[in-house]
Amino acid sequence: MTPAINADRLWQSIMDIAAIGPTPEGGSCRLALTAEDAEARALFLRWCGALGLAHEQDAIGNMFLRRTGTSPADGAVAFGSHLDTVPTGGRFDGVFGVLAGLEVMRALADAGIATRAPLELVNWTNEEGSRFRPAMMGSRVFAGDISLEAALAVTDDDGISVATALRDSGQAGPLTPSPRGWACWLEAHIEQGPVMEANGIDIGIVTGTMHVRYFQLVVTGEPSHVGPTAMGRRRDSLAATAEAILAIERIGQAGEPGGRASASWIRNLPNARGNVSHATHLHCDVRHEDAPRAVAMEAALRAELAAIAERRGVRIDVDPYTTVGASAFDAGLGALLRQKAAERQLTTRNMTAAAMHDSVLVAAHCPSAMLFIPSVGGITHNPAEYSTKEQVARGAQVLLDSVLALAR
Ligand SMILES: [Zn+2]
Repeated sequence: MTPAINADRLWQSIMDIAAIGPTPEGGSCRLALTAEDAEARALFLRWCGALGLAHEQDAIGNMFLRRTGTSPADGAVAFGSHLDTVPTGGRFDGVFGVLAGLEVMRALADAGIATRAPLELVNWTNEEGSRFRPAMMGSRVFAGDISLEAALAVTDDDGISVATALRDSGQAGPLTPSPRGWACWLEAHIEQGPVMEANGIDIGIVTGTMHVRYFQLVVTGEPSHVGPTAMGRRRDSLAATAEAILAIERIGQAGEPGGRASASWIRNLPNARGNVSHATHLHCDVRHEDAPRAVAMEAALRAELAAIAERRGVRIDVDPYTTVGASAFDAGLGALLRQKAAERQLTTRNMTAAAMHDSVLVAAHCPSAMLFIPSVGGITHNPAEYSTKEQVARGAQVLLDSVLALAR
């Protein structure tokens, strides 16, 4: 039997991080590489320092906290998630995985257990992608999916580059981002959906993720005056974008149950009272469990956009800037998670992740898997996001049991 995690300590740590960047509705806002993100990282680092974990940080800000093993040259058993949030973030997305990993380290320290393999706890930079796109930026650079130079040059909506934000937040580490020879990777995360709660499932075994295709659209019309310009003469980029948004929603509805499509970000120019808009930027994605279906959703999107552009006399440029997945996680690790949950009398179910996670990038380099805990009401990216103390504790316990089985 492995030691028990300390549910109260884990819960309190989650609440302590949630208090950094608090929102009026009870959630958290810690956009990547802001002062709030840096403050949460500093608190996390203090906790890790108290355990004697060795900290290394790479040039994209990823944090690696290492506990040595009795066979220190062995590949590490690695685990973690992310501390950054979306603007309307809750207390659990990402944070749960990092702090469940911290609780693994704390429980091992309490029990005086040395493992054969080293352990590494990771906080990935800019998982959410709310401030800087693409999402999962830290793990992408780590995995070689995008270059460090390209990531550093990305700017936020205020023109601040990743390089500047890393420097200003004190998060630009000396390591060159690259894979670290891990034996395997585990990520604990909240489900962010309603399936587990509805079916009374304690632990979700994530077998893979959807295939996601991301697009940045630019709709270009012509600036004019809202008064004198007859309706039929306008080339209104905002009105055309409104049609595009509804088309994207229809494509998502047609793609269910396995698919989704969303428009999630907009910038409108000149965005001035009295002006017909001439340039509207829109971010959207299509996703499906089956990659060919996602490709078909993209084709449907492009056809809709071409029709809108034709009808309204605007130009619509589509930048398909990145795709992710579909990915399949390691079956052996999935079986281990299932076994460790069963040994704790916990119910399990295989799941496909509809949200994207850093594990998708790590999986290209070492055997990887994820476990889910339920999200109350399926609510996420919302201040009301919630998992109970018991659900959190169960997930952390299965993580600990699995880490020990892999590293002992
Ligand atoms: Zn997350």
